[in-house]
Amino acid sequence: MAEPQEFNTPYSPTWCPGCGNFSIWNSLKKALSELEVEPKDVAIVYGIGCSGNMNNFVNTYAFHAIHGRTLPVATGIKLANHNLQVIAVSGDGDGYGIGIAHLIHAVRRNLNLTYIVHNNMVYGLTTGQTSPTSGKGFVSKSTPGGAIEEAVNPPALALAAGATFIARGFAGDMPGLTELIKEAIRHRGFSLVDVFQPCVTFNQVNTYPWYKKRVYRLEEEGYKPDNKSRAFSKSQEWGEKIPTGIFYRESRKIYEDELPALAQSPLVEQDIGNIDITQAVEEFA
Ligand code: SF4
Repeated sequence: MAEPQEFNTPYSPTWCPGCGNFSIWNSLKKALSELEVEPKDVAIVYGIGCSGNMNNFVNTYAFHAIHGRTLPVATGIKLANHNLQVIAVSGDGDGYGIGIAHLIHAVRRNLNLTYIVHNNMVYGLTTGQTSPTSGKGFVSKSTPGGAIEEAVNPPALALAAGATFIARGFAGDMPGLTELIKEAIRHRGFSLVDVFQPCVTFNQVNTYPWYKKRVYRLEEEGYKPDNKSRAFSKSQEWGEKIPTGIFYRESRKIYEDELPALAQSPLVEQDIGNIDITQAVEEFA
């Protein structure tokens, strides 16, 4: 079994001291180690943002995609080699802004991959603008009079799109987050883990103390994540009490199972030496 430190690279994270990204980074490495996944069997796709810098700090196969496009790249990798453990890592600006349509389509396809979103409710890398998950009224450089739009609600959106695994973690609860990531990776199908990730530099509203006063674990209430209506109602809970944990989980056939081309072996292992593409090439000549 690979120890968590085997997922380290020679480079140290460059995030601001106290950033919630440190906890997500450690939770992911611990989850992979405890699941006995070897670095060579994992491919992680990163987006653009402070979360994307993790590309340099985790020792697995990695791809630093362009803004908002983690899920299309992760989909391609999974289809090319479905034996790999494929994980996509985004931020809220990346994944719920320019990349939001990809989330809906990835969810309805139900590929067997895990999507971890560092949700700090602000654009951090570009030094503090209102993001799709910033609360209404959020004051930043881009909304000096306060955000006018309602925030995107990731668990509710994923539920409406038909997700088979939806969870929310908190970077201030590393043991809880590690367990959620493990459950998400174990899930056979598309799994979303939205993570409250305090940005200590550019978000002075959603801070560690702000979350600590509000978040609780769903399982402490005896909540069972097997009912869509109940999950939807929990996804609407916001304010004095904010739930974390697994909102919803169901078992459904995955996309890879429906593709005859993948039935025998991953595409990367298939012999293409005897395929004659002359006719196709001539058509486009
Ligand atoms: Fe973390 Fe915010 Fe600093 Fe980015 S700007 S590294 S999200 S604290």
